Amino acid sequence: MRPTGNNPHPVPPDPSIVSDLAELLGPGRLLAGTDVEPFLVDHRQLYHGRCLAVVQPHTAEEVARVLGFCNEHRLGVVPQGGNTGYCGGATPDESGTQIVVSLARLNRIRRVDPLNYSLIAEAGCILADVQRAADQVERYFPLSLGSEGSCQIGGNLSTNAGGVHVLRYGMMRELVLGLEVALPDGRLLTSLTSLRKDNTGYDLKSLFLGAEGTLGIITAASLKLFPRIRSSATAFAAIAEPRAAVQVLALLREASGDRISSFELVPRIAIELTTRHIPGVRDPLDEPHPWYVLCELTSSRTADPLEQMLTECLGAALQDGLVLDAALARSERERAAFWKLRETIPEAQRLDGASLKHDISVPVAAIP
Ligand SMILES: Cc1cc2nc3c(=O)[nH]c(=O)nc-3n(C[C@H](O)[C@H](O)[C@H](O)COP(=O)(O)OP(=O)(O)OC[C@H]3O[C@@H](n4cnc5c(N)ncnc54)[C@H](O)[C@@H]3O)c2cc1C
Repeated sequence: MRPTGNNPHPVPPDPSIVSDLAELLGPGRLLAGTDVEPFLVDHRQLYHGRCLAVVQPHTAEEVARVLGFCNEHRLGVVPQGGNTGYCGGATPDESGTQIVVSLARLNRIRRVDPLNYSLIAEAGCILADVQRAADQVERYFPLSLGSEGSCQIGGNLSTNAGGVHVLRYGMMRELVLGLEVALPDGRLLTSLTSLRKDNTGYDLKSLFLGAEGTLGIITAASLKLFPRIRSSATAFAAIAEPRAAVQVLALLREASGDRISSFELVPRIAIELTTRHIPGVRDPLDEPHPWYVLCELTSSRTADPLEQMLTECLGAALQDGLVLDAALARSERERAAFWKLRETIPEAQRLDGASLKHDISVPVAAIP
């Protein structure tokens, strides 16, 4: 959520407050002067702000201490994760009176528990590092977005990120077992449970998911893991209109025994933008079509006949006129090429000029 500038501080705070904050945290935790500049602009360079200082706490206790201090001195706080968000929520306003709390140094994976299918990561862990940590113990963390090389777990939780596997594994909210949060008054709420069955109320953690730091700063999370993916089948199929996509999705769910991990509806303009602006992106099909779906089946078993399921289902849809043409990825390289097209759509939009972002949810059947 973009800060609106309703800063509690009517006048610029006393500059000595910055040295007090630096002293509270100890050496190497506070940036001021020109060092703060990278923290004052968002990923798309749409929002430019100013700040009093940037702090980089190394522990959850330090985050809590910063919040207690800022609360006492009525300083506005802007948490910043990987700064890949689209809404300017991680950028301070123009008043120059806020403190940016960068979570980048809070980046340890505290625990990996393959038998419990869970891990505990600090908020500043990069999403791709969490995926790798799971992979190293033959497990899978399913959240996947175009920004996964720089966005952080704390940012993913605070925006309740969805990503390309949301259909099968749910949004970030559904991937969390427990949270640790620094509260505005300087207390640390520790609820890092890894329980699969937890019938206690109230579910306090849910308040912080998608809250963009308005109720506290997330410092660590216990996350759900899944069996490692060992086989996949991916296709790029052309369709005439979104109605056909919904029908193909229903058919494929049934035909694959619910093994669909991604099903992305892509308009023609996205193909035009990516082929124009992103080196190496090619139109996957010979002829242009109005709409496409990128679909992927995955399984933790190597023996599952995923390619056969996908080919048979798309073949039947082709005969029924639901699908107009389709290409199946025959190698990891082809699969990566399909995904590169999908994942570089935001970048291609950016390179083409101004773009409006929207994030609208409707029931699947209402998409047409
Ligand atoms: C190429 C690209 C593709 C993307 N694809 C998707 C997608 O498919 N799905 C999707 O949902 N998003 C997507 N995004 C948007 C963005 O990557 C996500 O919203 C991501 O979850 C933000 O994480 P971040 O660490 O960069 O957070 P930031 O941008 O740093 O912060 C986002 C918000 O969360 C707050 N915040 C950050 N860390 C914390 C914390 N520890 N505690 C409390 N509040 C905090 C910030 O103040 C801000 O309000 C994409 C972005 C890009 C650039």
